[in-house]
Amino acid sequence: MTLDFNHTKDITELFCEHIDAAMVKENQSQKPRNYVGVSMVGKTCERQVQYEYSQTPKDPGKDFDGQTLRRFGAGHYFEDDTAALLKAAGFELKTHKPDGSQFGFETLDGKFAGHIDGVLVDGPPIMKYPALWEHKAVGNKSFNKHKKEQLAIANPVYASQIALYQAYLDLADNPAVFTVRNNDTQLLHFELVPFNAALAQQMSDRAVKIIKATDAGEQLPRAMQSSSHFECKWCSYTDRCWK
Ligand code: SF4
Repeated sequence: MTLDFNHTKDITELFCEHIDAAMVKENQSQKPRNYVGVSMVGKTCERQVQYEYSQTPKDPGKDFDGQTLRRFGAGHYFEDDTAALLKAAGFELKTHKPDGSQFGFETLDGKFAGHIDGVLVDGPPIMKYPALWEHKAVGNKSFNKHKKEQLAIANPVYASQIALYQAYLDLADNPAVFTVRNNDTQLLHFELVPFNAALAQQMSDRAVKIIKATDAGEQLPRAMQSSSHFECKWCSYTDRCWK
C-alpha cells in the first residue's frame, strides 16, 4: 500500500469519507421496499408516498448520506435500549418472534405492510394489557412538542401508524403506549393512545387509493401549491415532481 501524507483534508474528513462510503454502499445494497409502508401512508402528500411505493429514483444528491444513516442507526439503538429498560423494570415486552423477525402485518397481496416495535403483554398495574408499543427517539425540540401536545397534534404520521397497527394486529381494545426518548437529554415521555377507528379506516382507504392509482399508472395530485413549501424542500422527489 502506498502511503499518501500530502492530503489537504483534516483527519475527521478522512475518517468520515471512509465510514460514510461504507455505510452508503451497505444501504444501497438493501432490497428496496416494494410496498406501501405503514410508516409512510400518513404523510401529507399522496404523490410522495406514490413515488416511494413505485421505487422511483430519488433526485440527484437526495440519497441518504452517512450522517442520516447514523441518525437512523441511533434511533434503533435507543429503541433497543428503552426496550431493555422496560423489561428490567418488570414489563413483559415482546419485540421479536422466536426466529428474530419483527411482528407485523401485510395485506393487499403484500402491497400494504408494516412492522411494529413491540407489544406489552404484562407488567405493573398502571395500564391495560396487551398494548401496542411504539418508540421514537427524537431531538429536544420534537421531544418538548410531544410533551406539550397529544400525539394526533404533535405528529399525525405517527398517530396514523399507531391506529393502523392497532386495527390490523387486533390490539384496538387497549390504548397503545407511545414512548418518546430525548436523544439529547435521555429523558423519556409516555403517552397512552386510545384506538382511533376513523383514522385507521381513513389511512387504510388511503393506502388502497395510492396502490390502485400507482398500479394503474395514474399520478396523484401534489398536496402542496408550491415547491417552496417546507415539505417539498425535504422531499426526495422535488425536481422530478416540479420540473
Ligand atoms: S415535491 Fe412536494 S408536492 Fe411533490 S411529491 Fe414531494 S411533497 Fe409532494
